[in-house]
Amino acid sequence: MSIQRSQSIFERAKAVIPGGVNSPVRACRGVGTDPVFVQQGDGATITDVDGNRYVDLIGSWGPLILGHSHPEILDAIAETMSQGTTFGAPTEVEVRFAETLRSIYPAMEMVRAVSSGTEATMSALRLARGFTGRARIIKADGGYHGHADCLLVAAGSGAATLGIPGSAGVPDGAARDTIVVPYNDLAATEAVLAAGDVAAVIIEPIAGNMGLVVPAPGYLEGLRAACTRHGTLLIFDEVMTGFRVAYGGAQARYGITPDLTTIGKIVGGGLPAAAFGGRRDIMEKLAPLGPVYQAGTLSGNPLALAAGLKAIEILGRPGTYERLETLGARLGDGLLAAVRAAGLPACLNRVGSMLTVFFCAGPVTDYATAKTSDTKRFGAFFRGMRERGVFLPPSQYEAMFISLAHTDEDLDLVIAAAKASALAAVAD
Ligand SMILES: *Cc1c(COP(=O)(O)O)cnc(C)c1O
Repeated sequence: MSIQRSQSIFERAKAVIPGGVNSPVRACRGVGTDPVFVQQGDGATITDVDGNRYVDLIGSWGPLILGHSHPEILDAIAETMSQGTTFGAPTEVEVRFAETLRSIYPAMEMVRAVSSGTEATMSALRLARGFTGRARIIKADGGYHGHADCLLVAAGSGAATLGIPGSAGVPDGAARDTIVVPYNDLAATEAVLAAGDVAAVIIEPIAGNMGLVVPAPGYLEGLRAACTRHGTLLIFDEVMTGFRVAYGGAQARYGITPDLTTIGKIVGGGLPAAAFGGRRDIMEKLAPLGPVYQAGTLSGNPLALAAGLKAIEILGRPGTYERLETLGARLGDGLLAAVRAAGLPACLNRVGSMLTVFFCAGPVTDYATAKTSDTKRFGAFFRGMRERGVFLPPSQYEAMFISLAHTDEDLDLVIAAAKASALAAVAD
């Protein structure tokens, strides 16, 4: 397969964009190769600028749960666009968006729309601090909540892939009040809460940015109870899991009510939209009602919200999550068997249509165990898969995402490619 045109564009890119990419993991450094440049997406597949087609298991890192170029989404965007693209004044679609979220996520009694997950988590934390009058926050090791200063501490994912522990340019003051505890370690969290002054615990209820890690039984319930006991707000960062692991997200799946929720990715239908919301008494502390400032020129952008609302409508049709579960099981079991058949240690973590095959014996229950994976072997596997027409996330520490556009045949192709790529990775 030739990626000649991609390579020539990448050369140009590197001269004008740091690393040639607008988000670090896209550079494929963690898997020892260069990126391909995408021309177009259609359903479950993407085509690069050299005309190579791939079954896509990234789905733009989660948003594209309906696949690429879904006709109803494109229509919703076109219809909205015919009336303009942004106004900086309220539009009714913003109200419908908030009403819709509240009806599916009852914990989001009030909602504010923003343009990225990073903005949602950053704003939710400022609000939690403003509401409680406390400074400290707790996050999990390997938990990723966007790239706000105070959250770039032990942040998994992109940082993990590049081997950067936190980030340069984050002043001590911004990181000092961020306390990091292992994921799934309730006792460690409780100890920090007991020491006092904790405004919020922010957690991915299903971790997706250290590879996929499932909450242990009782963990989320324990966090809920401990936060309530200490007057600390519980923030579920559902930017990835919202509308992914269930229509009502992880909070519906596990039956837990957080104080604040952040949501993104799928809610923009493939355009930039995200939101945060929660208890009315907390949300009413936001400007213009209250003293906590938060704003955005393009917040609640009508095109993005129209696309998101259409995606939410489609996901609400009968059978969608059952179908995603079936596809997830087929892919997860097939990939795990393929890697093990090559004689490589592997374990699978999966919830519905998001999953990670770790190249280690497992079980993977937190970031420390995730890091026992053989990332060099994973890199070889990734390269083999791309050669064979499968577009995987270019990092061991990311989840794969399946869409409703994937067919059984697509997944059979992926699994066949995995058998060959795992064998090739052994020899690599
Ligand atoms: C993707 C993600 C974010 C950041 O969202 P952006 O839109 O990339 O800023 C935050 N939290 C979680 C859990 C995410 O998966």
